[in-house]
Amino acid sequence: MTDRLLRVTGTDPVTRQPVDHWVADGVFVEAPADRGAAAVTLTGWVTPGFVDAHCHVGYSADGVASLAGAAAQARTNLVAGVTAIRDCGSPLDTSPLVGRPDLPVLIRAGRHLARPKRYIRGLGIDLEDPADLPAEVARQVAHGGGWIKLVGDWIDRSIGDLAPLWPDDVLADAVAVAHAAGARVTAHVFGEDAIPGLLAAGIDCLEHGTGLGEDTIDEMVRREVHLVPTLINIANFPAFADAADRFPAYAKHMRDLHTRSDDTVAAAMAAGVPVHAGTDAGGFVAHGRIAEEAQALLRVAALIGRDGRDVLDATTGRARRWLGLADPAPGEPADLVVYGADPVAEPGTLGAPVAVVRAGVIVDGRDQPT
Ligand SMILES: [Zn+2]
Repeated sequence: MTDRLLRVTGTDPVTRQPVDHWVADGVFVEAPADRGAAAVTLTGWVTPGFVDAHCHVGYSADGVASLAGAAAQARTNLVAGVTAIRDCGSPLDTSPLVGRPDLPVLIRAGRHLARPKRYIRGLGIDLEDPADLPAEVARQVAHGGGWIKLVGDWIDRSIGDLAPLWPDDVLADAVAVAHAAGARVTAHVFGEDAIPGLLAAGIDCLEHGTGLGEDTIDEMVRREVHLVPTLINIANFPAFADAADRFPAYAKHMRDLHTRSDDTVAAAMAAGVPVHAGTDAGGFVAHGRIAEEAQALLRVAALIGRDGRDVLDATTGRARRWLGLADPAPGEPADLVVYGADPVAEPGTLGAPVAVVRAGVIVDGRDQPT
C-alpha cells in the first residue's frame, strides 16, 4: 500500500499550525514509520475545502440539466475548491450523484416548495393550497437528502411587492414534520415580513436573509439559526429590480435590500449568527464561483474587524461539522484543498487552488465525470 501513499503538508490557514496528512485508499491514515514512504507529496496552505452551502446541482441558466450535466456542474464546483455541497433545491433527482468519490459530497434538499406564480416557474413544487405544505414536506423528507427547502417569500404580483408564501401556523407544522423525521429546513427569504414566521416555526437556516434587522438577528442567535447570504447573487438584486419595472414598489424594495446587504450580513456576523458560503449557483450564478463568494464574505467581515481566519473556518471546517461531515482523522474520507499562499492574507489565491483532493484522489480539472 505504501506506493499509493499521498502526503499533504504545510500550514492550516485557520490555526496557522503545521499540518501533515497521510492518505491511502481514499482515507486519512496514520503517519507511517518511514517518512520517506509517500509516492506524492503536496505542500501549501491546507484546508478541508469549502462547503458550497447553497448550490443548485441539476439546474443552470439553461434550465434543468441532465444527470450527466448535473455531474459536470458538481465537478466544476469541486475543481474550484468545493469538497461538499448542500444542494438548496433542485428540479432534478440528483440522488444518483450522492456518494460518488469523483464529485463533492452532496447533501440534498429535494424540490423547492412554493406556491403557484410565487417562485421561478418550473423549479419547485407549487402547492395550490398552502395548508398542504406539511404533507408535501413529509413526501420530500421520504425522498431523502436531509434538508427541506421552502420558498419563504417572493413577489406577490397582486400587491406588487415581496410577501410571505405561508401562514405562520402552516410553517410551524411543516418544520415540525421535518424535524420529527430527522430532516432540517431552510428557506429562501429576501424581505423582512416572512422572517419572524420562519424563525418562530423553528427553521434551521435562512437563505439570503437580506431583510434581517436587529430583532430578527437577535432571534437567530437565540435559536442558533444559520445564515447563507449568497452575496454574489445578492449582487444581482439591482438587475432583478431593473427587470421588474411593472412593480415599482418591489423594484425599490429590492434596491433598498441590496444597498444595505453588506451591513445586514455584517450585523448578523457581529451578533454571532453562523454565516456560511453559498454561491446560489444554478440560476443567475454560474457553477464554480465559490472563491468569489468567500472573497465577498471576507470583505463583509472586514467591515466589523472580524478575523478572516474565522470566516475561512466558518465556510470550511465549521460548515462541514454543521452538515455532519467529519474532520480529518484516520479512516475518514480524505478531502483537502491546497493553496499556494495564505488564502486569508491573499484572498486572490482562493481562485486558483494548487490541488484539490477528493476521497484521496488528486482531482484533475481537465477530466470530465463519467
Ligand atoms: Zn438558490
